[in-house]
Amino acid sequence: MDLSACDAATLRTLLGNGDVSAVEVTQASLDRIGATEPHVKAFLRVLDEQALAHAADIDRRHAAGEPVGPLAGVPLALKDILCTAGVETTCGSRILEHYRPPYDAAVVERLRAADAVVVGKTNMDEFAMGSSCENSAFFPTRNPWDLDRVPGGSSGGSVAAVAAFDAPLGIGTDTGGSIRQPAALCGLVGVKPTYGLVSRYGLIAFASSLDQVGPIARTVTDAALLLAAIGGHDPRDSTSIPQPVPDLTAALDAGVDGLRVGVVREFTGDGMEPGVRARVDAAIARLGALGADVVEVSLPHAGYGVSAYYLIAPSECSSNLSRYDGVRYGLRVDGATTEEMMARTRAAGFGSEVKRRVMIGTYALSAGYYDAYYAQAQRVRTLIIRDFEAAYEHCDVLVSPTSPTTAFRLGERAADPLAMYLSDIYTIPSNLAGAPALSLPVGTDDAGLPVGLQVMAPVLGEAVLFRVARALEADLRFDATPTGRNSLAEVLA
Ligand code: GLN
Repeated sequence: MDLSACDAATLRTLLGNGDVSAVEVTQASLDRIGATEPHVKAFLRVLDEQALAHAADIDRRHAAGEPVGPLAGVPLALKDILCTAGVETTCGSRILEHYRPPYDAAVVERLRAADAVVVGKTNMDEFAMGSSCENSAFFPTRNPWDLDRVPGGSSGGSVAAVAAFDAPLGIGTDTGGSIRQPAALCGLVGVKPTYGLVSRYGLIAFASSLDQVGPIARTVTDAALLLAAIGGHDPRDSTSIPQPVPDLTAALDAGVDGLRVGVVREFTGDGMEPGVRARVDAAIARLGALGADVVEVSLPHAGYGVSAYYLIAPSECSSNLSRYDGVRYGLRVDGATTEEMMARTRAAGFGSEVKRRVMIGTYALSAGYYDAYYAQAQRVRTLIIRDFEAAYEHCDVLVSPTSPTTAFRLGERAADPLAMYLSDIYTIPSNLAGAPALSLPVGTDDAGLPVGLQVMAPVLGEAVLFRVARALEADLRFDATPTGRNSLAEVLA
C-alpha cells in the first residue's frame, strides 16, 4: 500500500486497527520527502530522527494498551514560524538563523499531545510577509502542479509539502491570506480560523491583531480533525477565546439544503482571470443545485481592505520586529557602539520586503501621522466588520474566489510589491474582521492549474464553514494529485 497517498482519516483507521505502524507511516513520509524535495524544496529542516523517535514511542504505547492521541502517527509539516524547543526556528529570516527556542509553541504542544508526527519545518516568506515564498531568505519553494510556478505564500512550504504528498497535514499561519492563497494555488483545503480560536503562544509575531494559525490538508475532514486538535483556550495568549473549538464533525455531512449562500458582488472585479471566474461560478452553481439558496450580497467597504491592511500590518510588524536587536535572538553583527551594532545587525539580517514594511509601519505610527494613517485604517476596519455583520443578517456563509489568479511564475511579481499585495484582495477582509474563512479546491483552469473557492463565515461559524465545504467537496470530487505539464508527477515519472 502507498502510505503517502493516504489522508489522515484513513491513516487513523489503519493505525488504530494495527494494520500499519506509526514508524512505517513516518518512514514512508520521510522516503517521499527524499524523492520530492530536490524538485519542490518545501522544507527548511527535515526532522527524521525526532519524527522516528516519536513514531516509535506511539507504537510502543499502542502495543502496551496505553493511550495515544487522535492524530497518532499522522505525518505533519510545520511552518517554521512556530517555536520548537531546541530545534532551529528561523521564520524564513537570516536574523533568526540558528535560533533555538527554549520552549514549544502551544500549537506544537497540542500536536504532540495529539501524537501527530512533525516530519519537518517548512519554508516561508520571511516573517510571513509575502504571497509566493520568494521572500524566504533561504530559497524559493516550487508548486508541485508546475515546478516553474510559485506555491503561493507565505505558508508556501507547508502547502507544497502537503500537495507533494510528503505529509497529509500541514500547519500554516494566515495574517492576510497566507494559508488560503497558497492552498488555492496548490489545490488544497486551507483554513483561517476565527481570531483567538488557536493560541498564538510561541507563534513568532508579525501583525498580532491579525495572525492566526490554521490547518492545511487534502480533504475537508482532515482539516477539521487538525483544527479540533490545535484549537481551544490557552491562558498564555490573552486574545485566546475562553471556550472550546466548535464541534466541527457533528454536522459535517449535513449538506447545504436550505442554507443561504451570499456571493460577494465586490469580489468579482478587475484582475480576476477568466479561468478562475469560470470554475468559481460553476462551484457556486453546484451549491444551488445541492439546495442552497444563492443570493448576491454587497460588502461596500471591502475594496478598502488591502489599503487598510497595508497600514495596520506594517504598523504592528514595525513594533513586533523591534525585538530583533542583535542582543537577545539570532544574528549579531558587531559595531563600535550599541546603536551601530543594532543597525548593522538589522541591515544584514532583514530582507528588503521586511525592511520596507518596518519603514512604512514606523512612519504610519509616528507622531503627527498616526491619526491620518493608523487610526484611519482602524476606522476602515470597523466599517468592514459592519459590512460583514449586515451581510450575515441574511446569509449563513459568503463565497468568492480565494485568489484572483492561479499560480504565477517564479519571478513574475517579485519586483512589483503592489501586484504581489493584490494576491490577497479577497482574503484580507476576513482577517480584518477576525472571522473564519476556508479555501476549497474546485477544479483546474485551462492550463491545468488549481482554482480555490473561498467560503467565509461569521465569528465562530467554523461548523457551517466546514459543512458547506464538505458538501461541495463530495459533489465536485476534486483530485488533489498534481498532474500535467511540468508537474511533480511528470518529473518523477
Ligand atoms: N501576503 C500578505 C502579506 O504579505 C499576507 C501574509 C500573511 O497572511 N502572513 O502580508
